[in-house]
Amino acid sequence: MPSPISLQNATDDLTTLLQRYAVRGPRYTSYPTALNFSDSFSEADYQRQLLDARASTSPLSLYVHIPFCRSLCYYCACNKVITKNRGAARRYLDHLHIEIELLAKAIGRCRKVTQLHLGGGTPNFLDDAEMTELIHMLASHFTFDDSKRREYSIEIDPRTVTPESLALLRGLGFNRLSFGIQDTDPKVQQAINRLQPFDDVSALVETARVYRFRSVSTDLIYGLPHQSPTSFEHTLNATIALAPDRIALYHYAHLPQQFKWQRALEKHPMPDASEKLAILQLAIDRLTRAGYLHIGMDHFVKPEDELAIYQREGRLQRNFQGYSTCMSPDVLAIGVSAISSLRGSYAQNHKSLDDYYAALAAGRLPIARGVLLSAEDQLRRFIIMQFACNLKLDCKLLQERFHVTFAQKFADLLPALRQLQHDGILDISHEDITVTERGRLFLRNVCMLFDTSLTADQSRYSKVL
Ligand code: SF4
Repeated sequence: MPSPISLQNATDDLTTLLQRYAVRGPRYTSYPTALNFSDSFSEADYQRQLLDARASTSPLSLYVHIPFCRSLCYYCACNKVITKNRGAARRYLDHLHIEIELLAKAIGRCRKVTQLHLGGGTPNFLDDAEMTELIHMLASHFTFDDSKRREYSIEIDPRTVTPESLALLRGLGFNRLSFGIQDTDPKVQQAINRLQPFDDVSALVETARVYRFRSVSTDLIYGLPHQSPTSFEHTLNATIALAPDRIALYHYAHLPQQFKWQRALEKHPMPDASEKLAILQLAIDRLTRAGYLHIGMDHFVKPEDELAIYQREGRLQRNFQGYSTCMSPDVLAIGVSAISSLRGSYAQNHKSLDDYYAALAAGRLPIARGVLLSAEDQLRRFIIMQFACNLKLDCKLLQERFHVTFAQKFADLLPALRQLQHDGILDISHEDITVTERGRLFLRNVCMLFDTSLTADQSRYSKVL
């Protein structure tokens, strides 16, 4: 048993590290990150990628972005459109239909869709008839996998869904739900303009279990106004009581130059850096004591969850929706601002609805920007994703795949890697580099070492911690 003094020392030591590594950086849902996408990537480039993808026999993932929300959460950094106009959904569905037809024509329907994710905005902005229409549209243009392995998930705003709609979603084939909780304290909810009584969320999670959804995830955010370790402990306890399979704990990214509505939060007291560190440490302590595994990059999962199993087996992946078992090498994204990831490229649709509609009305895929990955990008993406997902880089595997010797190729990084080893973040041997238990908090820092695409303007990134 460590003495109380050594425990205190360990906490102080961790606090020093958290302060040292609290820089700004990407969340690595892609590499290169979206800030490096170029306007010179054209629809023709994307069509060529789709043609290559058509020849594959691997499964396919689909992502559909529904941008509409009924009210604005002041912390939001998503691409969304705030409206109460129901007609907005009708017009959007009509254009999704054109995009789905164009994509299905390009990629064919031989590949089984093993993963489908609806994100936003608020996917449940669509009413029951509209949601049914969307799923019918997708199912009649692509080949849905009807086996048990499929993962069909949807992000749910608990304020605007009914138990009956959850039943419909289950009937339409969804088996995973994700609920945004953020914080259960009414004072915090008032400040962020997102009032949702916890009892309502709790009832919805119960309903999801009655309808036998395979997995329930919840999102929390720390760094919001009025939060303190004491207040956030209530949120953690309430969330743990719901026993979700996965808990995402995001650090609030305050970037008012990019998202001007975030200024509305500045009139409230915000936790300072040391309070945020205390909240983070408390959260890690409570969640791990409750049996959750910290798999890295803001995510905690039950040990029996597929994400934990895939990480143990070195097969976990990461895409724009976060961690994934990603049975497919290709994610086809549909909707305004959505980003597709086809083996050698990323392609993003127009961010504005007007541009998105205009391209589709002219019979074109609505591609605005993207990037074709060079061999060097693919090598660095492999390394970054190995650390981010599987917490380990196998140098022999790297050599087999990319014909490079790690120590030679990255000789200039050795001092920085040694520093990370000294700080207890990495274990380094001749064969592999492993992220330690403590190092899971600093994954973005490790990945940033291998990122040659970081922009000089650090304010474009959120804080790592
Ligand atoms: S519901 Fe989600 S996407 Fe919509 S404003 Fe709130 S945080 Fe943003």
